[in-house]
Amino acid sequence: MGDGCADPRRRVPRTDALLAEPRLAAAVVSLGRDRVKAAVRQAQDRARRGEIDPDQVRDAALAALPPAAPRAVLNATGVVLHTNLGRAALSDAAVTAMVAAAGHTDVELDLRTGRRARRGRDALDALAAAVPQAEAVHVVNNGAAALVLAATALAAGAEIVVSRGELVEIGDGFRLPDLIVSTGARLREVGTTNRSTLADYADAIGPDTGFVLKVHPSNFQVSGFTSAVPVRRLAELGVPVVVDIGSGLLAADALLPDEPDAASTLTAGAALVTASGDKLLGGPQAGLLLGRAELVDRLRRHPLARALRVDKLTLAALAATLGDPATPTRAALHTDPASLRERTERLREAIAADGHKVEVVPSVAVVGGGGAPGVELDSWALSLPEHYARPLRTGEPPVLGRVTHGRLLLDLRCVPPHADDAVRAAVLAVPGEH
Ligand SMILES: *Cc1c(COP(=O)(O)O)cnc(C)c1O
Repeated sequence: MGDGCADPRRRVPRTDALLAEPRLAAAVVSLGRDRVKAAVRQAQDRARRGEIDPDQVRDAALAALPPAAPRAVLNATGVVLHTNLGRAALSDAAVTAMVAAAGHTDVELDLRTGRRARRGRDALDALAAAVPQAEAVHVVNNGAAALVLAATALAAGAEIVVSRGELVEIGDGFRLPDLIVSTGARLREVGTTNRSTLADYADAIGPDTGFVLKVHPSNFQVSGFTSAVPVRRLAELGVPVVVDIGSGLLAADALLPDEPDAASTLTAGAALVTASGDKLLGGPQAGLLLGRAELVDRLRRHPLARALRVDKLTLAALAATLGDPATPTRAALHTDPASLRERTERLREAIAADGHKVEVVPSVAVVGGGGAPGVELDSWALSLPEHYARPLRTGEPPVLGRVTHGRLLLDLRCVPPHADDAVRAAVLAVPGEH
């Protein structure tokens, strides 16, 4: 009788051998040695008690590991900037820059002189270079912080004149008017939900006016009997016009004709533009402020600026994003439907060959994340029975699709082409009746 059959406990693999297994070794790197060792011990104990076969110890240890958090997911929803999925996916350049900045870095030091330097100057210089219409730029934590800083530094104790049609809720109960009022500025509402005129603004402006605010209604559209005053006209009123463009488009994009961009808005006469870094710009979460030097200076010097300061990782990612705008967001927006169809057909063939009932159907992708509400991007999707949704969502990597009319649609527009194999493998791994 062989050794292995005599006493299964003797066949329980040793801890050091298990920790050298590639997948467990990788887990040591991401989760730390102690946690992986605890999972290994637990699995060894189960084998010693006879609950599992000694051959299963490695898999049991892997299964007992806590998942890495947060987890990377594949976005097959067809929503380019999905707030629940972290909005913009960073470019490889941005990821590399963040990793480089993760240790000690020259974020506030000039290595040539050995002296202190302007914090985040690479990112600020890149932003200024990308939008030459701005005399000065500043970066804070997010779009909301940019607005808070502008309202506090330029209008606390004073009035912000804003159209009733632009008092918007961004999402998850976040309402711009509440945010603005929290800074100590007073809102002076003008016009109606559907119509505001230049005269409405002019009547409201007086000695108490801090600035006129224009907010891009980035997640809804009003149509019918409507009118709004363009920045160009507001700029004639003789008070600073602050424009929250929302999405962070720096220059006009023909694909998104209704989306305001920083360059055009400044050219039209805005004194200050605020925007997010992780929407259409495709960068890290950040709030961008661009405009007149005198105003940006007041923002930078305000004590609140310190509380809204961005960290070195954000600055690194932002500089890299601005240096190479070929971001995943851009790729997802501009991928042509024909190539998406080809990729989707190829996947369908591979999946159908394994006995799954799968079809290719036309799909409509959207920008999402509070941007370009009217824009529909022609796309293609794999269509699977709805019951695939849960195992795909809870698998590794999690694949997120969109359930409509009892079907699960997997739209590849926001899936990088190199991840098509992972989508195929994930679908093939769904157990049970196909
Ligand atoms: C998204 C958005 C904001 C909020 O920006 P965050 O970066 O999410 O804080 C503010 N205003 C508008 C118009 C937006 O679209």
